[in-house]
Amino acid sequence: NEPLEIVDPEIYAVLEKELGRQRDTLEMIASENFVPRAVLQSQGSVLTNKYAEGYPGRRYYGGCEFVDIAEELAIARAKSLFGAEYANVQPHSGATANAAVLSAIATPGDTILGLELSHGGHLTHGMKLNFSGKLYNAVSYGVDPETFLVDMNVVRDKALEHRPQVIIAGWSAYPRHLDFAAFRAIADEVGAKLWVDMAHFAGLVAAGLHPSPVPFADVVSSTVHKTIGGPRSGFIISRDTELAKKLNSNVFPGQQGGPLMHVIAAKATAFKLAAEPEFRDRQQRTIDGARIVAERLTAEDSRAGGLDVLTGGTEVHLVLADLRNSPLDGQQAEDVLHEVGITVNRNSVPFDPRPPMVTSGLRIGTPALATRGFGDVEFTEVADIIAESLKPGADTAALRSRVSTLTEAFPLYPGLVQ
Ligand code: PLP
Repeated sequence: NEPLEIVDPEIYAVLEKELGRQRDTLEMIASENFVPRAVLQSQGSVLTNKYAEGYPGRRYYGGCEFVDIAEELAIARAKSLFGAEYANVQPHSGATANAAVLSAIATPGDTILGLELSHGGHLTHGMKLNFSGKLYNAVSYGVDPETFLVDMNVVRDKALEHRPQVIIAGWSAYPRHLDFAAFRAIADEVGAKLWVDMAHFAGLVAAGLHPSPVPFADVVSSTVHKTIGGPRSGFIISRDTELAKKLNSNVFPGQQGGPLMHVIAAKATAFKLAAEPEFRDRQQRTIDGARIVAERLTAEDSRAGGLDVLTGGTEVHLVLADLRNSPLDGQQAEDVLHEVGITVNRNSVPFDPRPPMVTSGLRIGTPALATRGFGDVEFTEVADIIAESLKPGADTAALRSRVSTLTEAFPLYPGLVQ
């Protein structure tokens, strides 16, 4: 029972270094966040020892009386947070949640219609190497080549052409709201189920700052670790209790064995925190921060960018910088920002002339910095640092020191020693 630093100093060093990296740099990967200490505590707890196959009150193992309480709390809180009649909080990740959803509402060989991966869709929405593209006949809709927006007339045309059994609304890289009512109408017209994957924008929905898909979708899946800022994992909700049995059996035993009870307990805590006023304030700062970044990157003054951003702005927690007309490609831009201490990911833009490992875009997200406490003033400074970094001849040392000023003013996990 020796502590980690004694048992495995090499891994202990990794943990220490990673804590230092998170503290000393600006995390702007749109799918990342910083979990509260309370969530770290559950995830590092003795709940990791417990097998609990089955569902609360109907387990295949003894000794589940306490973990049942954790799972019941997580279910009740997820339902209440999103106004759903049903919740399954067992998916280990967003991808397993999505595999369970598809196996519950479609049969292998069925046609599924989702947003094209290179236009901002996700692997699990029909990419050919993913289970979704291998097991199902995956077809896609793209964004409009002029506006970069999802055009619901195109979605309807594709649905009428392919007659899918499932229509998927959701994205990993798209800076605008989707029209869930229009997706519902199209699904009804062609007799498809509507599945919304809100993995990215779930926190905004929970805060009431983004339209909710729950009233429109047959089923909604999500991760907990992006805008919500909870443990790395997934969940499924629905207003349709008739689907409940199918969804449950497609998570367990369909996709998974024993649930990760330490993670489920942490989900319960994340959902509890998401119902509090501070959470709404954080989501508001997240959205405001993304809007400020978009405005500063595109502004034509000496400090700002003069860059393009897809759709001209954002309504959510991320901005997609369009580098097709910039001297730097996505890889170079990611590397320059890494040098000044800002972590983002390069991202293909729709109709990207460059290959996927290079790309012509950057996905820049604000959730983690909003969690760190950033508001309008700090996001303006961050945006200007990004814009200046991407200009020819940038003074990276000076920019790195401006990053340090921000990280020092907003300490992360104060007092935590790995
Ligand atoms: N769905 C969407 C829309 C996502 O963006 C992601 C993650 O990137 C996932 C699902 C998968 O989540 P995970 O990485 O937890 O499997």
